[in-house]
Amino acid sequence: MKRFNIAVLPGDGIGPEIVGEAVKVLQAVGQKFLAEFALSEALVGGASIDAHGVPLTDEVLKLTMKSDAVLLGAVGGIKWEGLDYSIRPERALLALRKELGLFANLRPARIYRELIDASTLKPEVIEGVDLLVVRELTGGLYFGTPKGIEKLPDGTERGVNTMVYTTPEIERIARVGFDVARKRGKKLCSVDKANVLETTELWRKVVIRVGKDYPDVELSHMYVDNCAMQLIRNPRQFDVIVTENTFGDILSDEASMLTGSIGMLPSASIGSTKNRAMYEPIHGSAPDIAGKGIANPIATILSVAMMLKYSFDMNEASDIIERAVEKVLAKGYRTADIMQSGMTRVSCAEMGEAVLKEL
Ligand code: NAD
Repeated sequence: MKRFNIAVLPGDGIGPEIVGEAVKVLQAVGQKFLAEFALSEALVGGASIDAHGVPLTDEVLKLTMKSDAVLLGAVGGIKWEGLDYSIRPERALLALRKELGLFANLRPARIYRELIDASTLKPEVIEGVDLLVVRELTGGLYFGTPKGIEKLPDGTERGVNTMVYTTPEIERIARVGFDVARKRGKKLCSVDKANVLETTELWRKVVIRVGKDYPDVELSHMYVDNCAMQLIRNPRQFDVIVTENTFGDILSDEASMLTGSIGMLPSASIGSTKNRAMYEPIHGSAPDIAGKGIANPIATILSVAMMLKYSFDMNEASDIIERAVEKVLAKGYRTADIMQSGMTRVSCAEMGEAVLKEL
C-alpha cells in the first residue's frame, strides 16, 4: 500500500469548511485506490497569529518540509488587517513558497458545460475550454535586482525593477511545462516578448532546447500581447501555457475569468523535488460568507485531484474526482455562488457529500 504524508493547513475564514470536505474526498479516494494518506493538520495565517503570534510557526514549517504535499485552504480576514505587513496572515504563504522552493504555479481554467453562463464571454467562444497556465513564481521582474525608487539630483525620482532569468531557472520551469503538457493534451505554448525583451529572447532559446527532450509535445511560441488577445478570442486553441512570473500573474488571472466562477478553480505550486508541492483553491478566505456553511468546496476538492495527479502520479484517482464533480453539476447541485434558476441549492457540506456519493 502506498503511503503519503500530507500537511493540511485549513487557515482562516471558509478555509476549515472547504478543506473539511476536500479531506473527506481524499480519504474516500485513498480507500478506493489502496493508498494511505496520513494527514497532519496545523494552524496557518490568522488562526496561527491568534494562537502563537505569528502566521507560520517553525514547527508548522518543519511539518510541511517533511510532508509529501501540503493542502491549504485560505488565509486572511478583516480581524488581522491592521497588523504590520511582516506578521499579516498572507506572509505565511510567501514564507511557505520561499522555504519549500515552490517555483512553478499551475492554474487550470476549465469550462463546465453546466456553468457556461457564469462567464462574461459568449458560450460559443468558451465551450470546451480546458487550459492550464504554468507561471514561473520565484524569478523575473518581481525579484530581480536592482530594484527600488531613488531620488535624483534634480529632485525627480527614478523607479527600477529588473527582469532577470538564468538558464537553469528557465530550464526547470520549461521542464514543468513540458511534463504537465505530457499529462494533458501534449501541446505547450511558451509565452514571451522575445521581439523586445532580451531576457525572454533567452527564455525562448532555452525552451526550444529543452523541447528537444520532449518530441511528443507540440511546442509553439506566442508574444504575451497576442496571448492576452487570443485567450479572449479563441481560448480553445490552448492546452498548456508556460510563461515568466509577471506575464503569468496577469495571464493566469485572465484565464481564470474565462470561467467566471472563482469557487471552482484549483491551483498547485510545485518545487524541484517530488515532495515539494502545495495545493490550494485560487480564491481567498471569503470572510463575507465564513461560518455560514455556504462556501463552494469544489475548488479545494479539485486541488486534491491535482495533488493526486502531480504529486502522487495517481492519474486515475484524479480523473475520478473530476468526473464526480462533473456529475454533481450535471445533476443540478449548486452552492450559492454558482446558483442558477431551476437548480438545487446545496450547502458546503452537502456539495462535499454529493461529490463523495459520485465517487
Ligand atoms: P476572496 O477570494 O476571499 O473572495 C472574493 C469573493 O468571492 C467574495 O465575495 C467571496 O464570498 C467569494 N468566494 C470566494 N471563494 C468562494 C467560495 N469557495 N465559495 C463561494 N464564494 C466564494 O477574496 P477577497 O475578498 O479579496 O479576500 C478575502 C481575504 O482573503 C483577504 O484577507 C485576502 O487577503 C485573503 N486572500 C487569501 C488568499 C489565499 O489564501 N491564497 C488569496 C486571495 C485572498
